[in-house]
Amino acid sequence: MTKYIFVTGGVVSGLGKGITMACLGRLLKSRGLKVMAQKLDPYVNVDPGTMNPLEHGEVYVTEDGAETDLDLGHYERFIDVELNKYSNLTTGKVYWNVLNKERNGDYLGKTVQIIPHITNEIKEFVYSVGKKSNADVVMTEIGGTTGDIESQPFLEAIRQISHEVGRDNCLFIHVTLVPYIKSSGEQKSKPTQHSVKELMGLGIHPDIIVCRCDEPMERSVLDKIALFCNVAPDCVVENLTVDVLYEAPLMLEDSKLSEVVCRQLRLDTPKPDMQEWIDMLGRIKSRKDEVTIAIVGKYIKLHDAYLSVVEALKHGGYENGCIVDIKWIDSETLDGDASCEDAFKDVDGILVPGGFGDRGVEGKIAACKWARENNIPYFGICLGMQIAVIEYARNVLGYADATSSEFDPDSKHCVIDLMPDQKGLPKGGTMRLGAYPCKIAKDSLMQKAYGEDMIQERHRHRYEFNNDFRKELEDAGLRVTGTSPDNSLVEAVEIPANDFFIAVQYHPEFKSRPNRAHAIFREFVKASLANKNK
Ligand code: GLN
Repeated sequence: MTKYIFVTGGVVSGLGKGITMACLGRLLKSRGLKVMAQKLDPYVNVDPGTMNPLEHGEVYVTEDGAETDLDLGHYERFIDVELNKYSNLTTGKVYWNVLNKERNGDYLGKTVQIIPHITNEIKEFVYSVGKKSNADVVMTEIGGTTGDIESQPFLEAIRQISHEVGRDNCLFIHVTLVPYIKSSGEQKSKPTQHSVKELMGLGIHPDIIVCRCDEPMERSVLDKIALFCNVAPDCVVENLTVDVLYEAPLMLEDSKLSEVVCRQLRLDTPKPDMQEWIDMLGRIKSRKDEVTIAIVGKYIKLHDAYLSVVEALKHGGYENGCIVDIKWIDSETLDGDASCEDAFKDVDGILVPGGFGDRGVEGKIAACKWARENNIPYFGICLGMQIAVIEYARNVLGYADATSSEFDPDSKHCVIDLMPDQKGLPKGGTMRLGAYPCKIAKDSLMQKAYGEDMIQERHRHRYEFNNDFRKELEDAGLRVTGTSPDNSLVEAVEIPANDFFIAVQYHPEFKSRPNRAHAIFREFVKASLANKNK
């Protein structure tokens, strides 16, 4: 029998519900359970794919090509499971499915309503994850904050699930904020009480309350919450802000979170075996070196827009025994060498991540030129690879108008272009998405990093390297070191004349794990460290 855990949030958004759930997932997995995770998002977009990263943060791409919420990245990194298109549902997708069924005549003359049709669609989605994955535990995070109008159908659906599967097989965890009032030196339980009351008004009584706080909680405050919210004292769990994110599972287990969860769900499991995680934290804590990496992008005001890239850089640091300091550089502030000299004077490596649209592109090209000409380790991801190709075509081949047809479709030298079968498609859901195999060239940095000849990486882009210019670029010294198995798509390029210059069409950051840094991030950090010590 699959057990269901639902995680809701109260008081404010941005509490780290996703991380809390990811931590619990890791703990349960370490108790030998098979865990699956999913997120229900109340917004009306069908998926986050069309949203501005500045508003919503990064779009996390799963192996099977779903464009999903960034919390799925936390789940994959902490739990180390591979999620899929059943791991993220939005209001938009629910309505899309229901309306398609309605048009199809599936409801046979019925009035289509929020209850039961919308809620049934949500329930079906949650149940299907359990069935398809054969998981012992399906964990579901409900996006937003309790009390939002738009999350009500989701809360009603999970209430019904708890009724259907029985209370022994279902658990509600409510993550709330316990603020500290400086002037009176007190931690306040009232917001939590209100938010639990709100939840109870919807028929959900939380079994466990996880309290986000910046300072350790007084026992009396924990007890007060237990008393007034009607849960056992050990079901109120402190979730303290930690220095290193990956300490959080152990911090939560200090309050016996997974033990309480297993007890409530009648799961007989051994204590979690967290030794590998503890060893990893040991490595993290003993880092001595420091390296500065510039991320050159246009969404830098919201660091969450590059969340997986940042985490993957940290992972690369963990394996090289160094702290990675990130210098955020707004690509729109770069124009030409003088600005680059100033921006990159204290930088050991330059990373140009993914992006869309022409704003800030010239600055990224300038950054790439600076890296190439000054032999600074360069790592280009997706748009960052397209930039590298454009820069090479402009400044080495001499095609001053070289560009991508995304920015100027009329240019004679679109070294990055749409594939013929993509022309004229609508914007949503028409990109090359998800995992594709890539063949690696012999004696390349790619091969040295991966130690393999064939890899599989996740994509999210519409434009590709234009093969019309491949020979010219290769003859001029830009080496193609990764292609699709049939050699038709260029997936990676390198500049062998430089110490470290790799640019890839895919998004390696999604597959990096704290205890298993992605190969290119590991090598990039290593090269940046070597550059620093040169
Ligand atoms: N805008 C580019 C494309 O669609 C790059 C996308 C990306 O960086 N994810 O091909």
